[in-house]
Amino acid sequence: MHFLSAIGAAFVVKGDSPPSIEERIFNCQKCPLAKTRTKAVPGEGSPDANLMFIGEAPGRDEDIQGRPFVGRAGQLLTKIIQAMKFRREDVYITNIVKCRPPNNREPEREEIQQCQAYLFEQIENIQPKVIVTLGNVPTHFFIPSKSGVTALRGTFYPFEDILVMPTFHPSYLVRNEGNRLLKKNVWEDMKKVMAYLGKK
Ligand code: URA
Repeated sequence: MHFLSAIGAAFVVKGDSPPSIEERIFNCQKCPLAKTRTKAVPGEGSPDANLMFIGEAPGRDEDIQGRPFVGRAGQLLTKIIQAMKFRREDVYITNIVKCRPPNNREPEREEIQQCQAYLFEQIENIQPKVIVTLGNVPTHFFIPSKSGVTALRGTFYPFEDILVMPTFHPSYLVRNEGNRLLKKNVWEDMKKVMAYLGKK
């Protein structure tokens, strides 16, 4: 038997790789959401994605599965991505906070602050050309403004060397299913993203 297992060593042996960002998020205990979550939801998609979608926080389905945007709003987001001529696995999808807030309340400022290092690390690793922010919470994370997403959507805002495009959250579209103007607005925003990324 190797002497380390013989003494039950629990430390990291030289040469072991450090935990991945996904492992760190799955095991994160930095804020009180760790106590109420089922699974943390790091995000998923291509590590080389040019396009990143950022939502607010996992909901019920995401909390159960540990994957982002898999519920009704997620199915609509997948359709939007496909209409943009991308596959879901070509883009990267994540949230501002990685754990579900109880009863889907908005994440609190402290929770966003505790979680933001993960998002910055993801952006740094992936280096997307465009970030689409879905709804007010991720939009205000990148664009501090008194205006809401209704006023901010449809225009690119610079964030370092990335362009941020705010648009409506797909769950807002689901809740207002008959409102064709909202869908048209989102599609106009996505067409600007497609044009910038050279998608016809
Ligand atoms: N809503 C979000 O903001 N994120 C998800 O992952 C699912 C629903």
